[in-house]
Amino acid sequence: MPRSTFAAVLAATSLAWTPAAQVQAQAAPPSLDRLKQESFAVVDANADRMGRINDAIFSYSEIGFQEYKTVALVKKTLEAAGFKVEMGVAGMPTAYKATYGSGSPVLGVMSEYDGVPGASQRPGSLAHDPIVPGAPGHGEGHNSNQPTIVGGALAAKAIKDKYKLPGTLVVYGGPAEELLASRGYMTNAGLFKGLDALIEAHIGEGLGTSYGLNNLAIISAQWTSRAAPPTARGPGRAAARWTPWS
Ligand SMILES: [Zn+2]
Repeated sequence: MPRSTFAAVLAATSLAWTPAAQVQAQAAPPSLDRLKQESFAVVDANADRMGRINDAIFSYSEIGFQEYKTVALVKKTLEAAGFKVEMGVAGMPTAYKATYGSGSPVLGVMSEYDGVPGASQRPGSLAHDPIVPGAPGHGEGHNSNQPTIVGGALAAKAIKDKYKLPGTLVVYGGPAEELLASRGYMTNAGLFKGLDALIEAHIGEGLGTSYGLNNLAIISAQWTSRAAPPTARGPGRAAARWTPWS
């Protein structure tokens, strides 16, 4: 989902929950289209900053449960915007929950930020071109997930503040998605209780949206395979290393 669309969805969702009495108590509210345009402007104003966060997280390339620099940067950004950030939630040092506002509705956004072992890669290169051979990298693009939801949350907050909209914004950081490791513990710890809606953002090659239990990595599974990857088959290639490029 493009950053501006994501922010608009979040802001529009917040507005959709605004009680009628609250709206009537204010001066005539602008149209939804106008509010979307205002949220786009906030996203654009923050674009360079979110881009730098995107690049910083890419450079950290921290693998699951080791995303310390990543969450420190996000925490600093959210706290500077007025969010209350609780670190180490659900017993995981690199999981966090950040809140702004109070009361209903409670609207959340979530994403992950772990890198992939062995996926170090120079940006913009389609061929296997590691920056540091064998080092972790953001082979799946999780570096963009957090700036996307933080940029959206900041836009929703700006609209909420300007029009004095009721409710609570929640930003979640779920570590170790590649290990399918964090969301079950976050659920068991009750971190999602009281939410009216949760939007999960994940990088993809299209601009698709869906609903339900998608991209949440709540259900863990483990399997083994004896099959060699396609390019490792054939005489003398059985021992070829399995990499994202094989
Ligand atoms: Zn992912």
